[in-house]
Amino acid sequence: MPPYHTLLTNARILDGTGNPWFYGDLAIQDDTIAQIAPPNSLPAAHRTIDLEGRYLSPGFIDIHTHSDLSILVNRRAESAVRQGATTHVIGNCGMSPAPIDDAHLPLMKDYWGLISEQPEVNWDWRSFGEYLQALEDGGTAINLAALVGHAALRITTMGMDDRAPTAKEMGKMEHLLGESMGAGAFGLSTGLVYPPGCYATTEEIIALCRVVAQHNGIYATHIRGERETILDAVAEAIHIGAQAGLPVQISHNAPKYGAPQPASANLRLVEEARARGQDVTVDNDVHTDLGPALFEGLPQELHERPMDEIASLLRDPQSRQRIKEEIIRDQKPAFGPVGLLKHAQWHCITLLHAPNTPQYLGQTLAAIAQQREQADPFDTYFDLIIANGHQAAAIFDYIDPTDIRTLLQHPAVMICSDGEALAPYGFLNDPPPYAPCSYGEFPGVLERYVRDDPVLTLEGAIRKMTSFPASRLGLFNRKGQIRGLLRPSAQADLVVFDLDRIHDRATNLYPHTYPFENYPHQYPEGIDYVFVNGELVVENGEHTGLLPGHVLRHGRLRCPS
Ligand SMILES: [Zn+2]
Repeated sequence: MPPYHTLLTNARILDGTGNPWFYGDLAIQDDTIAQIAPPNSLPAAHRTIDLEGRYLSPGFIDIHTHSDLSILVNRRAESAVRQGATTHVIGNCGMSPAPIDDAHLPLMKDYWGLISEQPEVNWDWRSFGEYLQALEDGGTAINLAALVGHAALRITTMGMDDRAPTAKEMGKMEHLLGESMGAGAFGLSTGLVYPPGCYATTEEIIALCRVVAQHNGIYATHIRGERETILDAVAEAIHIGAQAGLPVQISHNAPKYGAPQPASANLRLVEEARARGQDVTVDNDVHTDLGPALFEGLPQELHERPMDEIASLLRDPQSRQRIKEEIIRDQKPAFGPVGLLKHAQWHCITLLHAPNTPQYLGQTLAAIAQQREQADPFDTYFDLIIANGHQAAAIFDYIDPTDIRTLLQHPAVMICSDGEALAPYGFLNDPPPYAPCSYGEFPGVLERYVRDDPVLTLEGAIRKMTSFPASRLGLFNRKGQIRGLLRPSAQADLVVFDLDRIHDRATNLYPHTYPFENYPHQYPEGIDYVFVNGELVVENGEHTGLLPGHVLRHGRLRCPS
């Protein structure tokens, strides 16, 4: 028997099923696992790595990311592989960069913002298949599985119009969606709080989901409100799945501040649907915060205006008052963090980035208001926007940690980052985004919710990061083996970690101290080796520069390579 190319010995093997770990050796040949055997029972390999009792698990499968364009800017997927993620699902929250046509390309670029102007993002693709090909052509360090974004279908068909599609437009969206599914998309995603997704009726989504159902895809949704209206929004998602006859994935489904009931209430709706025989599952990330720009809390219709225009509106006492009232009325529910403004939770908003008012960094808006002797912190909020424009950003702590624990422990909930592949250098770090989930999601779960405060067993946590998302999506290798499990002939996507040393260096827990402990972010500690399709991408915590990832295509057992 020829020697294997790599042999990992003395591992504590977590096979991804949730079963207790066991000691063993694992041999890799080409891109698959050749054998799993008792310790010291396999012949020597070209390369043998003694893991000395460290854990060996399937690579983490991140079912909810926004790496669609960032992976083009940096194909090494630094922040993903350093935290043990070997597969990213992209195209979430209604956002995918394809399909698109020439006429609507400028709108699509606006939609994606600054990243769309990066030289690596050349917009050479139009169809979804061409986009997947563009990902594949340059190589990537991680595997990618893509969803079609509902917003892309709408932008390509009817721009950003706030109206229902005509019958002809509906036919065009269905056609584009069917073509994208045929090219290998895993399903359709929606973002029903963002334009243009928020303009769609339930019926529009059901009609599109019927096309996805014909291709055995899934429906993944950022639901139509995660605060006051969250239960109606979960019910809508379940209704869409029932009507169209397809599995539903409710994305990052923690209630945000302002929700009437704890997470157990949404989960009850999911349980009831499952009891009726409907396949509904949920993903969530474990961070309580988000770090948007301050102006993103303003009413949506202002977002596109030039900043000097926004500033002069905010300087005028009458329009300032009107804007404040509009935020509180929240009639077209704004995205999650705005709940903190609406309900005056100023002590939960911590200033992160504000080049023109550095004296206030690290303080909450409540504290800044007090220092400035402003009775209404709305005035403080508006003044910080006037002073810093688009550059003012804050950490909004808008999720209850108790809900995160409830969600983590629920059998229908898997773990996602809701982040994107970033890097602490180049465009993706300029200025450093507050993105703890992009760097520290999986290590953070292992550190805080498995080791330090065991909300989950180690085996249970690994299952929610590996085989559970893989089976949800139907991620198979060319031998017909499901990913996310350690089995002979399964794909060799692997992570080696040291649970004692594991440390997330990107997350700042609330209440925040200043200077921030973990901002700007750093790579986590304790993720020692990461293999993608049998090749070593992270070695002793450093990136090897290899790009062995595959673009996975739904409905095809065969990988392209
Ligand atoms: Zn989302």
